[in-house]
Amino acid sequence: MPAPATLTVDLNALAANFRTLEAVGGVPVHPVVKADSYGLGAAACSRRLMAEGARTFFVARTSEGERLRAALGAEPAIYVLDGCLTGRAARLRAADLRPVLNADAQLAEWRAAGGGACGVQIDTGMNRLGFRPEAAPEPFEGLDLVLSHLACADDPAEPMNARQRDAFAAAAARYPGALRSFANSGGVFLGAGYAFDATRPGICLYGGGPEGRPDARIRPVATLAAEVLQVLDVPAGETVGYSRTFMASAPTRIATCAAGYADGVLRSYSPRGRVFAAGELRPIVGRVSMDACAVDVTGLDIAVGDRVELFGAHRMLDDAGAAAGTIGYELLSAINARVPRVYVG
Ligand SMILES: *Cc1c(COP(=O)(O)O)cnc(C)c1O
Repeated sequence: MPAPATLTVDLNALAANFRTLEAVGGVPVHPVVKADSYGLGAAACSRRLMAEGARTFFVARTSEGERLRAALGAEPAIYVLDGCLTGRAARLRAADLRPVLNADAQLAEWRAAGGGACGVQIDTGMNRLGFRPEAAPEPFEGLDLVLSHLACADDPAEPMNARQRDAFAAAAARYPGALRSFANSGGVFLGAGYAFDATRPGICLYGGGPEGRPDARIRPVATLAAEVLQVLDVPAGETVGYSRTFMASAPTRIATCAAGYADGVLRSYSPRGRVFAAGELRPIVGRVSMDACAVDVTGLDIAVGDRVELFGAHRMLDDAGAAAGTIGYELLSAINARVPRVYVG
C-alpha cells in the first residue's frame, strides 16, 4: 500500500535530463544537489547521476556535504556553496569537502586550518555571495575552481546575462589553473559562451524548465500524488473548507485528497491550483488545509482510494508553481519529510 501522499522520483528521467544538459552545454555537468536535491533525495539522485558519469557535486550547507559524502563514498568532489563559515574548517576537512570561499575571512579561516582544495566565488552582479571582481584574492595553493552565479538566467532577453558572463571571463582569467563554473540551469540554454568548463544546473535535472515554464527538452522527474480520502456530494449553497472561501453554486462532488500544506501543497494553491484527477485537470476548491485539499470532481468517475496528481507528467511542475504564485523550486523543496520518496528506474 503506498502512503496517502507520495513523491515519486523517476531516476531515468533524471538521467535523461543530465544527458540533455551535457549535450546542450557541451561540457560536463556538475549537479547541484543542495536542499536534498530540491527535496527529491540527494543520496538516491546523486548515486544515479554518478552512474551517468557525474563526479563533482554542489551542496549549500556543510551538513549537506557531510551526508552526501557518507552516501557517495570517497570518490566524487563535493563543493559547499556556503564556503568556510567560522569554525567549520575541521568539519569540511574531515568529510573531504571543498568550500567555495566567498570572502577574505573565509579564506583566512580555511588557510588557518591547513587549506586544501577549494573554490572561490566571484560576485559578478547578483550581490548575494562572493568576492567583487576587484577584490578577488590572488591565486593561491589549493584553489581549483572559480565560479559565479547568474541573476537572471531564466530570462534570455535580460542584458545583464552577457555582462555577468564577460565579467566572469575576465575575473576567471586570473586563475588559469582553476576550473571555471558559471551556468546554472537557465545558463546552460543561453548559448555556448555561457558554458565555460563545466555547468552547475539544479532545477532542470529535477524537471523544471530553464525559463520557469515547461520545456519540451526537459522531462518531468517528480510526481506528487495523493490518495482520495473521501468523496462527498455537497448541495448547492453549502461551502467547503476553512473560512467558507468556496460555495457550491450547484450540486458539487468533492474529493478530499490526502495532501495539504504540511505535505508541500502550498496554501497559495487556492484558489488557482489544479489537480489531475481521473484523466482531467480539476480545480482545488476552498482553502488547502494542513493534511488535505478539496478537489471539484463533479462528473468524474473517482472513488476513495484513487490517486490524484498535484504535479507530474500530467500537471507540469512549472504550471503548478505558477498557479500557486511561486516557482517549481519552492514546490519541490517544500515537500515535508512525512511524504515518502518512491524511486523508479
Ligand atoms: C542553486 C544554485 C545553482 C543551481 O541553480 P538552478 O537554477 O536550479 O539550476 C547553481 N549555482 C548556485 C550558486 C546556486 O545557488
